[in-house]
Amino acid sequence: MQINRYWQKRLSNCKISLEKNNFDAYIAETPSDAKTIVVDKILPLIDIKSVSWGDSLTLYSTEILEYFRSKSGIKLIETFAENISREKRMERRRKAILTDLFFTGTNAVVDSGMLVNLDMIGNRVGGITFGPKYVVIMVGRNKIVQNLDEAMKRIKNIAAPQNALRHSIKTPCVKTSYCMDCKSPDRICNIWTIHEKSYPKGRIKVILINQDLGL
Ligand code: SF4
Repeated sequence: MQINRYWQKRLSNCKISLEKNNFDAYIAETPSDAKTIVVDKILPLIDIKSVSWGDSLTLYSTEILEYFRSKSGIKLIETFAENISREKRMERRRKAILTDLFFTGTNAVVDSGMLVNLDMIGNRVGGITFGPKYVVIMVGRNKIVQNLDEAMKRIKNIAAPQNALRHSIKTPCVKTSYCMDCKSPDRICNIWTIHEKSYPKGRIKVILINQDLGL
């Protein structure tokens, strides 16, 4: 009970900070609730013809992509299809930057209302930064950190090594479980982004989910 009150307070404060920084922000209790927020609250307010996404375990847990796979009238660009070549996947990820609505997660969200991300290729941070008319970010509560320094430490020592493992990439952090600031050709840490604010106001919508999700 006390723990739940703690998280309600933490999520509520984070939502207020995000809104002060011009993000639209929502709180969901579960991944399924996050999907409902998209369908019932966000989609009725925006006119979209195309959708795509950047890799995120938290996003997958909401199953919002299944909603678009079964919906006619909105084109879903499948950026992670396994039955196509890497070149084709990259081409689709370029096209994803021009969609109307882009979904992904974030590596960290700072209490003061900033999003912090680190990418290997850049298609995920690219979509958050510019191109899609709207962006929806799904965030588990475990991604909330107190400051930028904590965000970067979290990303380098928790998210990145686990992501390297998840994608079977042979970087030193896979063996050490923390960052070795490697020079590996497979290095997954190449592009940092810090979103201090959403511009234009409301373009980026953040759904804070009251569960530990993703990496
Ligand atoms: S810089 Fe290299 S060692 Fe450090 S987390 Fe990234 S991939 Fe792993």
